[in-house]
Amino acid sequence: MLDIWRLVVAPNPVLDDVVRDGLLVQSAQASRLSSLAALPLSFVVLAVLAADGAARGEILPWVALVLLVMVLYLAGVGRFVVGSQDRRPYAERLRIFVLFQVLAGGAWGMLPVIVTPVPGHTTTVSVSASVITLTAAANAIFSSPTPRPWAAFHVMTLLVGSAGLVRHGEYGVAALNGLTLLAAFPLARYTYQQVARARLVARHNGLLAQDLRAEREAVERVNLQLSEANTELRHQATRDPLTRLPNRTLFFDHLERSLRHGRRHHTPVAVIYFDLDKFKAVNDTLGHGAGDDLLVQVADRTGAVLRSPDLLARLGGDEFVVLTHDYDAGDGPQAATQVAERVRAVLAVPFDLGGNLVTVSGSLGVALDEPGLSAEDLVERADMALYRAKQLGRDRVCEYGPDLNWSLPAVES
Ligand code: GH3
Ligand code: MG
Repeated sequence: MLDIWRLVVAPNPVLDDVVRDGLLVQSAQASRLSSLAALPLSFVVLAVLAADGAARGEILPWVALVLLVMVLYLAGVGRFVVGSQDRRPYAERLRIFVLFQVLAGGAWGMLPVIVTPVPGHTTTVSVSASVITLTAAANAIFSSPTPRPWAAFHVMTLLVGSAGLVRHGEYGVAALNGLTLLAAFPLARYTYQQVARARLVARHNGLLAQDLRAEREAVERVNLQLSEANTELRHQATRDPLTRLPNRTLFFDHLERSLRHGRRHHTPVAVIYFDLDKFKAVNDTLGHGAGDDLLVQVADRTGAVLRSPDLLARLGGDEFVVLTHDYDAGDGPQAATQVAERVRAVLAVPFDLGGNLVTVSGSLGVALDEPGLSAEDLVERADMALYRAKQLGRDRVCEYGPDLNWSLPAVES
């Protein structure tokens, strides 16, 4: 008992508040259960006394009072200590629990003492007390490591009580049974508390393990989110948000690598720069949304006519650029122009923009790599060739060449 008491009341470095709280609740439940078991017996006693005419004496009110206290105990412990709604602080619930225990314990102990002087009924009470004692003892023996002496004490009391009944008459037996009943109550409680303590320690361990698991999972989740965010950020930094194509940064990155590779392995590299003709008109007549739709479709179609090592990027507005490399050297400088012609042809097929069939065209400029050129130089040359294509009336492919006359007047839009 003292151990249990220390466990419930005193701070314990091993069992934290959650466990102490759980122990209090389970302890109250155990007491409630043993009181519940006693309640029918009390009713039987009350009924027997009433039938016997004891109501005329002073005993009946006392038994009724005992009953009332026990009923109050059950309700009170349920409401204030075990109840899950409107939870009071631990210390307060502990105080209420102790108060109810004292009341119920007193009531329980009074029962046989009150009944004892009633002639002719000691046998009933004795048998009932024995049943309770046996139940408590069986519980002690089978469900928890309750100390054996306690169980032995109850069995002994039962035997002595029975012997007393035979030999010395009902008064002595009643007194013994009173003792037995008094002892049965804390014994049952002690039994349940032992079980409760074992369960709570297990639960506490489980909670700790659960906490650790939850923490590890949380860290893993955060890690995953970070790496996803990282990937997304990297993607955003290198992709055009509308078409999901590589943007200028990623394009130049690839171009520089391709130039290095091409020069080392003597494979040609070319840049095709293209721009939609009169794209503004699509925006103006069908709306910006349709213009966006067209840009996305242009990206899809162009990508479909390129070989997989080639790279299509959107530089902004309606300007796209293709990096084509390692193409068949046998075709010579014409190979890049052929790729550009393929793009021009695919752009000429009408686009379905929300039900409207729209025909557009593109102007394309091609520039081949030459020793000493930087990536920027090569793209600028392709841009110059594109400019020439626009000047010559659009919807065509122009190759960069030294013959390009850069002094031509600017094209009208
Ligand atoms: P040109 O034949 O000379 O190329 O004429 P154009 O009408 O195509 O004119 P230009 O290429 O100079 O202009 C491109 C227009 O594209 C300008 C801008 O209003 C529009 N634009 C730029 N970015 C976007 C976009 O993300 N979505 C849409 N819908 N329109 C864009
Ligand atoms: Mg344009």
